[in-house]
Amino acid sequence: MRVVLLGPPGVGKGTQGKRLAEEHGWPLISTGEMLREAVARGTPLGKQAKDLIEAGLLVPDDVISGLVRERTEEPDAHDGFVLDGYPRTVPQADSLDEMLLQRGLKLDSVVCLKVPEEELFKRLRLRQRQDDTDATVRRRLVVYREQTAPLIAYYGSKQRLREVPGSGSTEEVYRSLLEALGLNGRAV
Ligand code: AMP
Repeated sequence: MRVVLLGPPGVGKGTQGKRLAEEHGWPLISTGEMLREAVARGTPLGKQAKDLIEAGLLVPDDVISGLVRERTEEPDAHDGFVLDGYPRTVPQADSLDEMLLQRGLKLDSVVCLKVPEEELFKRLRLRQRQDDTDATVRRRLVVYREQTAPLIAYYGSKQRLREVPGSGSTEEVYRSLLEALGLNGRAV
């Protein structure tokens, strides 16, 4: 199954995505993690991404789409994958559709996790990742609203979008996620 997890930073895409991927044998493809790793290793990509990440801004669409194209071609992604943090803009969503179409594939599901904005801010401040300072968190939420939230309408109009409440315990959210994906009977 090819799944996209959509939703603002701090909503729980990483936590839920990790479990969903692990329990079903699919790789979790997290563009944020891939970029942080590149920054840590000091690769050319990492050097290009570092300042943007620290400022809470997005890495260019073509760079990130190239990364996802390569990653989704790996053998472990053959039967499915969970995308966390990609696509984040309409051009990225178009690229994703295009790259899947070229392989005769399509997304099975796009799930949007939702929590109230005050709660997001609190969660992000607690998370204490290096790119989670107050100013960066605020910028990341603005970038989400302006550039990523339009994907809700984008996927909504293609009737592939499911919404899942992201408040409540991790367990409750996970159950709702499985249900939205039609996987509840198959959970381990
Ligand atoms: P995340 O861990 O998904 O919150 O991503 C951390 C940071 O990496 C973001 O604030 C962006 O600077 C960058 N990033 C991650 N995914 C993308 C993407 N799909 N497009 C552009 N930038 C991204």
